[in-house]
Parts: sequence; C-alpha cells; structure tokens
Amino acid sequence: MAAPESHRLTRQILIAMVAGIVLGVGLNRLGAAPWLQMVVVDGLLQVVGSVFVAALKMMVVPLVFVSLVVGVTALSDLKALGRIGVKALALYLATTAIAVTIALALAGMIGPGQGFDAGQTAASFSGKAAPPLTQVLIDMVPSNPVAAMAEGNMLQIIVFALLFGVAVTMSGARGKHVLNFFGDLDVIIMHMVEWIMRLAPYGVFALITRTFATQGLDLLLPLAAYFLTLTAALAVQLLGTYPLLLRLLGSLNPLSFLKKMRDPAAFAFSTASSGATIPVTLRTVEFKMGVKNSIAAFTVPMGATINMDGTAMMQGVATVFIANVYGIDLSLTDYLLVVLTATLASVGTAAVPGVGLVTLTMVLGQVGLPVEGIALIIGVDRLLDMMRTTVNVTGDCAVTCIVAHSENALDQAVFDDPAAGSVEAATQRPILSHPAA
Ligand code: ASP
Repeated sequence: MAAPESHRLTRQILIAMVAGIVLGVGLNRLGAAPWLQMVVVDGLLQVVGSVFVAALKMMVVPLVFVSLVVGVTALSDLKALGRIGVKALALYLATTAIAVTIALALAGMIGPGQGFDAGQTAASFSGKAAPPLTQVLIDMVPSNPVAAMAEGNMLQIIVFALLFGVAVTMSGARGKHVLNFFGDLDVIIMHMVEWIMRLAPYGVFALITRTFATQGLDLLLPLAAYFLTLTAALAVQLLGTYPLLLRLLGSLNPLSFLKKMRDPAAFAFSTASSGATIPVTLRTVEFKMGVKNSIAAFTVPMGATINMDGTAMMQGVATVFIANVYGIDLSLTDYLLVVLTATLASVGTAAVPGVGLVTLTMVLGQVGLPVEGIALIIGVDRLLDMMRTTVNVTGDCAVTCIVAHSENALDQAVFDDPAAGSVEAATQRPILSHPAA
C-alpha cells in the first residue's frame, strides 16, 4: 500500500530537520533578540529537545534487555549465539579498520592542517586516559545487574540478558511462563517507542534548531580543510563501503538500504548519540529491513556500543591534522598504529555525544602527538559528531543486515518492500514466534 503512516512520519522528520537547520542558521546569523534567545532558544527549544532525548534514552535499557531475552530464546541452539557474536564482532572491527584506512588515505592526500595557524583557536582541552582493553573485558561482566541497568552500561546489560535468555530456554515449562511474559513486555515497549516516534518531528526540530542557533558556522572557516576532509571520508564510508559490503556479502540492494536508513540517520544526526538512537535503529532493522529479532536484538546494542566507524574516521583525520599543524611527520608504522588504536578506541567509546574526542587522546598518545592538539578541533566537533554518529549507526545497521542474511534470518520480501515498516507491524509482533513455544 502506498504512503503508509511510517513514510509520512519519515517525511515529517526530514522536513523538521531541514527547517531546523534553516531556522537555526538564520537565528545565528541575524542574532536572536535577548528575549527570543531566552524564551525560545534556551527555553522552549531546549526543553522540547531535552525531553525528547530523555524519552528516547528512557526506552533504551528496557528495550534492549527485553528484546534480547526474547531474541536469545528464539535461537535454536547456543552454537548459533556464538556464531552470530563472532561474525558481528569480526565485521564490526573490519568495517572500523576500513573506515580509519579510508580516513587516513584521504587525509594523507588532502593534507589538512598544513599552514594552519594554531593561534586561531583559543579553546583548551585536557585529556582523560581511556581504560585499557583488559579493563573493558573485565567490566563486561556485571557484578550487579541492577546497577548495570541503572547506569545504562550496555555491554553488561547484553551479557546479563544473554545469560538470562539462555537460562530461560533451559528451564523448560517454567521458562515458558517467563518467556510469555517477556514476549508481552516486548510488544508493550514497542508501543511506547511508537509514541516517541510520533513526537520525533518536534524533538528533531527543537534539537537541530538549537544546535545551529548556538553553534554558528563561523568556526568552520579556519578549520575548513579538516572539516571537509572528514566529511568526504564519512561520505565514502556511507555511500561506498557499506553499499559495497551489503552487495558483496549480503547480496542486498544498497539503495533500498540507504532509503530505509532515513529515520535512524535523522535521529542519530539530531541527537549525536548512537545509544539514544537504539530504539529507532532496532525498529528500522526489524520492521523495515526484515531482520529477525533474534539477530537484531543482539547486534544492534552491541554495534551501538563497540562499532563507531565515523568516530574512528574522525580520529584518523584529526591525527593527521594535528600532526600537520605541529609539523610532525607520521611514519608508515604510525599510520598502522592509528588504524589499530582508533579501531580499539572505537570499541571503548561510549555511544553518547562528544566521547570520540576523549578517546582520541588514546590515539594521539600512541603516536606521540600532543593531546592539547584536540583543543584546535573542539570548536567544530558538535557538527562533526552529528555526522559521524549517523555513520556509526548506519554501520550498525549494515552489519546487522549482513549477519542476518548469512544466518537466513533476513526476510528479503520485507527488505525489498519500500512500504515495509508499518506501525502495526511494530506493535503487533506475533505472540511467541520462537520454536520453544
Ligand atoms: N557521538 C558518537 C556516538 O554516539 C560518539 C562520538 O563519536 O563521540 O556514536
């Protein structure tokens, strides 16, 4: 059927985005009157935007936990779980390594930062050490699952939900009662996500207008080379790498994929947080792209936590930029080290705004560049954060589709149907579609 409600909503969200950019830039250029600044920009827009992001975040923990428990119980055997995990991890790391390599190659060719006057930006930055990988591994096991949920610690929630789901499956008839309950909860939570989706045009409009009204584009000028190099690199990953991988590894139509990415892309762009976007990402891969819940519920939160291709690209371009500004030559070994550390840093980067800059300290430290260099790029980071988060989320969806395809868990008819993703599908999951039922 033509133009279902979800399409109308997507259109409204995109219109809200464009209107927000135009109005925000206009407000910034013309300078809002003090009362307008106080009542509208710092008042109304801030409240609506913050409430919208808070509402999205409100859904993340219950949605991930419940969805993952239901998803795990739908898997026929435990071996499948391990296989899916290994495939997803390998693809997430590989796409990130490809991303940094593209970023470094472009930055090497364009040479951003050459002839840059470091006196032009006055901001300062003091780095924070990233946790070592061993600690990341230890921290994956929650010593207190309630605390993990309260803190929204995604990896710990994933580990607990997986173990819980496996135990439910192994508990026979008693497990089935619990599973029924979780299946119902899953549908209820999806209803709540739908409410937030309906508010999205207002939320996105408020977030974008305020960001552009307060950011200003003047800061971009001295950093144009850095900004444009990174933008080009992100575009290559988005329009080149993912389409190619989808075609080669999943025999999937990249154009359909990109069209269906509009909702999560708009959310990622306006919130600059892959974590807050999880409800929309999950909803999109399941109902618009036809990925089974048993795969998506696992790979989407995992990707939001460990897969940050856009962030790693920023770190690659930023490293070359800072090296150029300080007149330091990077050797081939340095480049390889950047690929390795940026890939690992992406695993350790939290899925919230601005953290990519913090883990950049790890990358710079690895190749002996001054951490203070980050102060040079901090001024334009918000806008780049919005763009790289969009790439981060697109990477999560691409890998999810490829893994699902390889596991025979992607409904090709849904993927190919441009009208797929009706509100009804999202809120009326079949009751107990798992084999154990
Ligand atoms: N904002 C990014 C994300 O949530 C992380 C970052 O690059 O700072 O994916």
